[in-house]
Amino acid sequence: MSRSSWNAVSSDQPAQVSCPQCGTPVPWTASSTYRPFCSRRCRLVDLGEWLDEGHRIPGEPADPPPPGDNDPH
Ligand SMILES: [Zn+2]
Repeated sequence: MSRSSWNAVSSDQPAQVSCPQCGTPVPWTASSTYRPFCSRRCRLVDLGEWLDEGHRIPGEPADPPPPGDNDPH
């Protein structure tokens, strides 16, 4: 029963995640209101970036050239 020593220590530690915004370790507990973010500011910043990326597709041209087949002659 020697393995129970390190196993008990491992289970005693709360789950921890890294803040997606700044990388700060955040304990995954009910007290961490803004998990997986470390703070409200990080959550808002990440949400803003996500919304901004959702409105535009990187790599796509903003103004595609008109098709020449429909050009009246
Ligand atoms: Zn953070």
